[in-house]
Amino acid sequence: MQRISLLKTTHNKIKEKLPQGGLAIDATVGNGHDTVFLAEQVGKDGVVYGFDIQQAALDKTRMKLEQAQLADSVRLFLASHENMADYVAQEHKGCIHAAMFNLGYLPGADKSIITQVSTTLKAVQSSLTLLAPDGILTIVAYPGHHGGLKETEAMAVLFDDLDLDCFTVKVVKSSVPKATAPLLYIITKQVFAG
Ligand code: SAH
Repeated sequence: MQRISLLKTTHNKIKEKLPQGGLAIDATVGNGHDTVFLAEQVGKDGVVYGFDIQQAALDKTRMKLEQAQLADSVRLFLASHENMADYVAQEHKGCIHAAMFNLGYLPGADKSIITQVSTTLKAVQSSLTLLAPDGILTIVAYPGHHGGLKETEAMAVLFDDLDLDCFTVKVVKSSVPKATAPLLYIITKQVFAG
């Protein structure tokens, strides 16, 4: 069996749905890997919205984007992701092709700054509203760190309750068979969903 990382799986799934010139959201910019990936996918005619509550994360990401000459298509906000709808342009609402969440803490930084259940839930719900028909939302959750299990369980409850006429939900487990291994949730908005 081929072992493929959750991150690679996430990127492959996003690539299927995010066209050049498309619209994307990185709800947890962190070290900027996903922001750069999304910016590459949408190209110079697309837009990527990025959110993080740590200025250091945004600074690092801005530098990476500039080095890769991708900064023009990215709008970075020092803001909590549950307020993302306040920052997305009116004409982009309901038109987002892909949104990504990578929960937990910023690797290499203060591990006490983590995503939180209540704000993550609000942010995920907001991103589902912002998605275009056939748009994709991916969430990598980490049950292994302090607070991460509670958050992962909250995601499971939220997705269990989603209207399956409007969304499809898929859970991908890490190839490492451990209860603490990360999980990938892939939600797709049905084409006819409102
Ligand atoms: N654990 C992942 C990385 C997660 S980075 C890994 O190992 O790859 C998570 C990022 O989310 C951090 O940079 C953190 O600052 C950010 N974050 C935490 N709470 C947030 C919020 N409410 N809104 C936006 N970003 C948030």
